[in-house]
This record gives sequence, C-alpha cells and structure tokens, in this order.
Amino acid sequence: MTLPRSIGLVEVGPRDGLQNESATVPVPVKVEFIRRAAAAGLRRIEVASFVSPRRVPQMADAEDVMRALPRQAGLRYIGLVLNRAGFDRAAAAGCEEIGMVVFTTDAFNERNQGTTTDGAIRAWHEIAAAARTAGIKAQVTISAAFGCPFEGEVAPERVVGIAQQVAEAGPFEIAVADTIGVAVPGQVSEVFGRVAEALPGMALRGHFHNTRNTGLANAYAALLAGAGTLDASLGGLGGCPFAPAATGNIPTEDLVYMLGRMGIGTGVDLGRAIEAARYIEQQVGHPVPGMLLKAGPFPGAARPAAAKSA
Ligand code: MG
Repeated sequence: MTLPRSIGLVEVGPRDGLQNESATVPVPVKVEFIRRAAAAGLRRIEVASFVSPRRVPQMADAEDVMRALPRQAGLRYIGLVLNRAGFDRAAAAGCEEIGMVVFTTDAFNERNQGTTTDGAIRAWHEIAAAARTAGIKAQVTISAAFGCPFEGEVAPERVVGIAQQVAEAGPFEIAVADTIGVAVPGQVSEVFGRVAEALPGMALRGHFHNTRNTGLANAYAALLAGAGTLDASLGGLGGCPFAPAATGNIPTEDLVYMLGRMGIGTGVDLGRAIEAARYIEQQVGHPVPGMLLKAGPFPGAARPAAAKSA
C-alpha cells in the first residue's frame, strides 16, 4: 500500500475533548476554541453533541454554541446525534454535517444510547434518510471497533458486518473508532483492510485515542490501509465517559507534525494549531497530553513561548 499525498482531518476537541472535562467550559470559550481551530486550517470541526443534557451536561449548550459560531464557506460544523430527536435539533441549529455512532456491542450501545446494536443501526438508517431530505451531509462511526470495555475483544468480522449494514443507508463516509484506546497497529491494518475490501470506494475515517500510547502508530496503520481522513483533538483533549482512563484523542498538532514531516498535506498550519492547543490548555486549567506543546516543532519556526526562556 502507498501513503496518500494529502488527507482530511476532523477536529473533535470541542466535542469528544470538552465532553470529558469535569467542568463545563463556557460557551464563549468553546466558540473561541473553535474559531482558532478553523483559523489553523481545520475544515471539519465536531462542535457539539445533540444528546440529553441530563446525560451529558457538558453539551447542554449545543444550540448556544452553534448560534454564536461564525460561518465560513468550506468550513463544516459537525453535530453528533444518536437518534432522530438529536438529528432534528442539529438540523435546526444549522449543522452542515451530522455524525451518528453505532457501537459494535449491545452492552456499549445500551450504556451509551439505550438500545441494542440492531436498534442503533435502525436509528442510523432513519437519521440518514432525514439528513438526505434536509440536504445535510451524514456519516457514521463504528465505535469500540477494536475492543469493548464490557464485552472484551471484538472480531473484525463483526466490524465488517456492521459496516455493510450502515453503508446501505448511504453515508458519505464511515469512521472506524478505537473509542477506549486499546487498538494496536496490526489490528488496525486488518480491520481497515477488511472494511475497505468489503466496501470498495467507501470513504473511510479513523478515530483513535492515545490511552495506551498507540494512537499515532494506529493512525499511520489506518492511512496505509486506505483511510483518507483522521479524527484528532487539539492538545489531545478527550476521553470516554464509560472508559474512565481513556484520556485523549490523538493530538491534532502532533499528528499534523508527523504527517507534515512525511510530506502528507493536511491544510493545517502547525504553529496556529499549537497556539489553539495552548489556548484550550489554559482554559481547562490543567496540562493536556499533546507533546508538540512542550517540545515545539522541528525545524523550530514556531517555538512555543515556554521554550523561549533561557
Ligand atoms: Mg472518542
């Protein structure tokens, strides 16, 4: 397999990242964070989830965030939805794109969205049809594709089977996600390879958490296996409410550094991405996992402020 010359990125920090902060980040801070992400060149940004505010209080301000965000041609704000009611809210709020999530196991679907895997697939079909009618781009993520905290190992055949079922609803892209950060590169190669083989021509996206320090290696394996887009979060914010130690998506700026040095374009300005990561680190008030924030890029055109002092 050969590597692509350029790939797409989805910035998930404002949703997957901030959702896992114990304190809710105020709307103006979220809006400024998203504005900085867009200014760094990120063109698809997951800005909120339209779910029950009782279950996820950090996302209760989804409509307020959408209302305050500046709109720009070519910039897509993504709303995460889990059912038809959530889709209707995201559509009313003006999301240019929606993402739905189907977990690989009944146990995880039950915990996250109160349904079985089959129920989640049915909900996705309903959402996809509504999105088509509304003219909103729709994609779906197969979550816990490399392991489930409740049911353990997940067979690649199971991921392929779900991918075939969700593909029937016509998503423009399918993401395969290591929600709890347990995947290793060999597994990523196999799962992405099998899904690509089963669904020729389908755009594939990878979503990795760096919980066990395999995130960037998994991202590289996914690119080699045919993924054209990767999720990442500025600063490496993120986690999973049902996997208490699943800290951190792969950091956007660390990924952009790695890809840039490999000659793979992302359209993202590394210096601005580092600045956006530094902004959100200051706002959440605790250190974030991203490493470019500490080490700075190489060659060192955009040295981080902390590294300037002698
Ligand atoms: Mg995640």
